[in-house]
Amino acid sequence: MLEQVAPPQTAAGLAAELLKLELITAPDLPAERDRALAAQRLAVRLGRRDLYLRATLHLGDVRGREGDTVELGRIAHAVYPEAVQIGDAYLLARSHRQLSVFFYSVGDLANAMAHVVQCMSHTGDDVLPAIRARHLMSLAVVLDETGATEEAAGRFAEALAIAETLGDELMTLTVLNNMTYTAFEQGDRELAERLADRMREIARSHGIPIPASNLDTMARVWMMSGRYAQAENELAPLWDEDSAHLLNVGHAIVEALVTAAEAQREQHAYDRAQRTLDHAVRLCAERDLPGFRAKTREAQALLYAAAGRWQEAFEEFRRFHTETQALQSAQREARAQSLHAVYEADEARRASATFREMAYRDALTTLHNRRYVDEVLPTLLAGPACRVLSVALLDLDHFKTVNDTLSHQAGDRVLQEVATVLLRSVPAAATVARLGGEEFVLLLPGFDAAAGLRTAEAARRAVAEHDWTPITGTLAVTTSVGVTTVTCDGAGTPSATLEAADRHLYEAKRAGRDRVCAGTR
Ligand code: GH3
Ligand code: MG
Ligand code: MG
Repeated sequence: MLEQVAPPQTAAGLAAELLKLELITAPDLPAERDRALAAQRLAVRLGRRDLYLRATLHLGDVRGREGDTVELGRIAHAVYPEAVQIGDAYLLARSHRQLSVFFYSVGDLANAMAHVVQCMSHTGDDVLPAIRARHLMSLAVVLDETGATEEAAGRFAEALAIAETLGDELMTLTVLNNMTYTAFEQGDRELAERLADRMREIARSHGIPIPASNLDTMARVWMMSGRYAQAENELAPLWDEDSAHLLNVGHAIVEALVTAAEAQREQHAYDRAQRTLDHAVRLCAERDLPGFRAKTREAQALLYAAAGRWQEAFEEFRRFHTETQALQSAQREARAQSLHAVYEADEARRASATFREMAYRDALTTLHNRRYVDEVLPTLLAGPACRVLSVALLDLDHFKTVNDTLSHQAGDRVLQEVATVLLRSVPAAATVARLGGEEFVLLLPGFDAAAGLRTAEAARRAVAEHDWTPITGTLAVTTSVGVTTVTCDGAGTPSATLEAADRHLYEAKRAGRDRVCAGTR
């Protein structure tokens, strides 16, 4: 049960409160909702958007457990784009998890899988084991549904081991419940019965009541072998006032009641079955569980049919059909909106990564630009990425002539071609950047004076020997190069380094161009 706690006042307190909510296994949904709403209000006061979004996700979780899949999806896809923008790994993991739960509940396994995998990849090593176990369980459930039984079993086992190590009986029961339900769905009666026994044993030895969803699964396991009386008996705690607090798990109790009605119907106890269904319908109305009203109608139709009340069975079945169709179409719409929101958010992230990259690129040549050099040069000079650094400054010779005798357009093509030639001629460790105009720079980390000179000379020769006739006809394209080499001990500054290279470049120009001049200062 949820203990009465004083509301937190600080961001750390709020984060701890959210974690508590995220760890709840056997919930009192109205209390959970109140706490999540309080968490939202505090997050607003503290100006913590990330914590606000986590509280919002939890509200979605509560709605989902109340059977409102559409609202769960709406919240999941509303939060996701902001989670992407904020970039907090834990918030992203929670967002992906919720999207996965949503897609799973509308039957879109492919997207459920894509999101639960991303949930896991954002679940870092710093995440609480109890949360990791929950994420692993979500993954296992989806894996299982896609037929990856072995992989699912591995994840279930991991989650189970964590829950047992933590001594968290309710979590252990939840994992076992999922495992049992899986075995039930696959018709593996022997395994399902073994797992059901294990759940009973854990509850018994720890003196805890079994949650309604577990009871439901255990009853289904009895029904696999036609033991309807045992199934009904297993569900008897549903009517027990004392354990009602733990069993009041949103829709779980309605689902368990529908199972009980089925067990009673199979025993031809139609009056008992009818009272059970009436109770389930009342709960649906009281608790606003739209997703489960249709389920009770299907059970009702089957009950009428079993009693030979064909006309009523038919009418009820029609209502079941209509309500199911309405639910499904609302879910389809929610799914489409989620897909769209996720797509937009992912696109926006890709675009912003591209924009960031573009800010460091020269538009004409796509080489790195001066801003990039300004950012990396200080880092290189400070070490410890390299012990020594050579910097080669290149300036095309008589480039004005190309522009003047041919065209500015031809000049542009030469600059683009020079970029390609330089990239081809330098080793992979080198950075080639265009500083502006017809000036280029080679950053050569780890290149001592000799290696720097060799590389600069190779670059110069590559330009001079390139076949320029397609662009410039008879006009030659050459470059002068100034090289400087410095030790990366934090002593040299970017401007002093570039100035030294520029001095050697000037020497090269004065000495007749198309040559390399180098020095260590
Ligand atoms: P030097 O050998 O002394 O370097 O002679 P230069 O003609 O290359 O020297 P200068 O710096 O006087 O001329 C550089 C020319 O480069 C001037 C300008 O027209 C041209 N230029 C600068 N940026 C661009 C560009 O983006 N595209 C084109 N086509 N030309 C450019
Ligand atoms: Mg110039
Ligand atoms: Mg020039």
